[in-house]
Amino acid sequence: MSVLIYIELDNGSIKKTSLETVAYGAKVAAQTGGQAIVLAIGKSDSDELEKAGDFGAEKVLHASDEKLSHENSMAYADILVQAAESTQSKIIILPKSGLGDAMAARAAAKLKAGIVSGVTALPETEGGFKVTRSIFTGKAFSTVEIKSDIKILVVKKNAIELDESSVGTVKATVETFSPQLRDADFQATVVEVEKASGEVSLTEAQVIVSGGRGMKGPENWQPLVDLANALGAATGCSKPVSDLDWRPHHEHIGQTGIKVAPNLYIACGISGAIQHLAGVNGSKCIVVINKDPEAPFFKAADYGIVGDVFEILPKLTEAARAI
Ligand code: FAD
Repeated sequence: MSVLIYIELDNGSIKKTSLETVAYGAKVAAQTGGQAIVLAIGKSDSDELEKAGDFGAEKVLHASDEKLSHENSMAYADILVQAAESTQSKIIILPKSGLGDAMAARAAAKLKAGIVSGVTALPETEGGFKVTRSIFTGKAFSTVEIKSDIKILVVKKNAIELDESSVGTVKATVETFSPQLRDADFQATVVEVEKASGEVSLTEAQVIVSGGRGMKGPENWQPLVDLANALGAATGCSKPVSDLDWRPHHEHIGQTGIKVAPNLYIACGISGAIQHLAGVNGSKCIVVINKDPEAPFFKAADYGIVGDVFEILPKLTEAARAI
């Protein structure tokens, strides 16, 4: 029984979050005695796709066509279904993202599969197939049993620890996969995508330095940006900050913004309202800098610094540059 793992590409490179999905899928394949097969859609090359083997994939199916160069959840879901059928995969795994969720829902309807999104740990396979998912914006967990023959899991970042056991032992073979493309899937297509250059993407970032209203105004952001540059981090912000146009809207993190899951999240002058926490509680380590020792964010922090951001940020930057 194969486990099919969909990976997302960014300009031909496998997204870091997807490599983690491969490691997760390979562990599920080991649990269930199956083969870990990866599906990549869009332009890339064999050298890049073989990297999936380093995370435990045995085979990579690569569907590449000019029509598939921009994300298209309808067409991609159709290809996922065709790949699942041709590999007779009973478990399908996707990374949690807008695209991953959209593809999973469409594929589940076509394959009559049970679907669980927001999965946070490896499934239990003894006495039923049970998965844990986060609910109420990460405030609680629920365990769900999937009884359908085909099972689809949409997995959150940091669902597994990447360690030596995540390293693959066989070289992945890359095979061309030529799916049937349906005209109906291309009635509306993306013509061009313009990406901000020179910035670290928030969803992919390992480290994020984020600012709130405690930064007092857009003119005060440089100390925060300096720390982010010293750490190779992305910059984020709270909702009021982007509402006030202090920072661009794509930096807004939280329940109504982007959900992030970096290894390190440094919150500067952010109170820690529940709506903000909903976007950051997948982070491995949270550091909070706030001058108010009663700020709610300290309850969610791994490390807290009580003090003025404008005094602390330059000291942290100096220390980071010295590493
Ligand atoms: P504040 O609450 O004003 O906090 C500023 C903090 O900075 C304070 O804790 C203060 O002690 C500290 N501070 C001030 N000066 C300094 C200094 N010099 N040094 C150190 N610390 C200092 N918010 C989000 O962020 N994301 C969301 O997605 C989101 N969605 C929402 C959805 C809904 C439906 C609603 C109702 C609200 C939502 N909010 C969201 C808003 C949320 O409730 C809070 O109002 C918001 O997160 C507060 O932003 P803040 O912490 O930057 O500002």
